Amino acid sequence: MVPEYREGLRGYTGGMPGQDVSFELDAPLEDLVKRILDIPSPSGHEGPLADAIEKALQSAQHLEVMRLGNTVAARTSLGRERRVIWAGHIDTVPVGDNLPSQIRDGALWGRGSVDMKGGLAIGLSLAVALDSPQHDMTWIFYDNEEVEASKNGLGLFGAAHPDWAVGDFAIVGEPSNGAIEGGCNGTLRVEIETPGKQAHSARSWMGHNAIHSAARVLSRLNDYTPATITVDGLDYREGLNAVGITGGIAGNVIPDSCTVTVNYRFAPDKTLPQAEAHVREVFEGFFVRVVDQAGGCRPGIDGELAQGFISAVDADVRPKFGWTDVARFGEWGIPAVNFGPGDPSLAHSDDEAVSLAEVRAVHQGLRAWLSSYSD
Ligand SMILES: [Zn+2]
Repeated sequence: MVPEYREGLRGYTGGMPGQDVSFELDAPLEDLVKRILDIPSPSGHEGPLADAIEKALQSAQHLEVMRLGNTVAARTSLGRERRVIWAGHIDTVPVGDNLPSQIRDGALWGRGSVDMKGGLAIGLSLAVALDSPQHDMTWIFYDNEEVEASKNGLGLFGAAHPDWAVGDFAIVGEPSNGAIEGGCNGTLRVEIETPGKQAHSARSWMGHNAIHSAARVLSRLNDYTPATITVDGLDYREGLNAVGITGGIAGNVIPDSCTVTVNYRFAPDKTLPQAEAHVREVFEGFFVRVVDQAGGCRPGIDGELAQGFISAVDADVRPKFGWTDVARFGEWGIPAVNFGPGDPSLAHSDDEAVSLAEVRAVHQGLRAWLSSYSD
């Protein structure tokens, strides 16, 4: 494990397995972000960081801690009426020449600063500091987000401990420029096959051209007007697009089959079966095969609990169009938003850097919300 781990670090030796790492939780927030950054945790090598997070959470009397692999979760049980889940992934893409971290012009520079160790530091410091939050809290620090979905720590943890996968609202600490990005669109990919009859192109009248038939599929796409659908107060733009086409086997053969691949990005007012039914309706009369699908997630921001959150953190609210891990909460029936510091367009780049002022602002907002009592 160790040589392979070192390889992913390009010579940087901070936070190697076996090193004793821990956090000074009383230190200023920027020190904690810097410390977390300097414990590299490319996917599959989150052990040292998970150990340090577990140690920090165990030090808090008000938290019950549960670990599965390198996913560490903690929760309060104060008997509050509502429960909020905060979740953040602890892995990063492989480290380039961007560790150890550096502070330059009010920003913290280094692998993972944006995606998403700025958010991670906020979650960890609040988990430990808030011993009497206004809602019961579940904090989930999970591994393997940057790799294939089957390894995703949040998904595995929820499957292993369904009693921990419950709540009224969830916040994923992914970078969102400090804005609230609600829910996410779902995605469905289908293949539409048009049949034909093979023949030599010199005697084309003896066959039937499947590629020509695909024109009818394309014209339905051309005629289709994608909807914008308001869900819980946010406008989700949909899309129905051909993303691939294949057909034909040789330069002198009338093709007997042609396949158009279509991707439907649908608003979170629909379930997967409803999205599939819609696509089948659009392509009625054609053979439609589903090849890939992932449901969306409602933002739930019209609820009383989320409204309290929005007014306390005082951030812009907008819909999330891409598919993210908030959709896992959708699967668990929990509305969810992204809310974290950092510019997502800098995620995974070599000059990844997060504004420390933004880290402080997101921390302040969450702290103000969770510390305030309405009763
Ligand atoms: Zn991320």
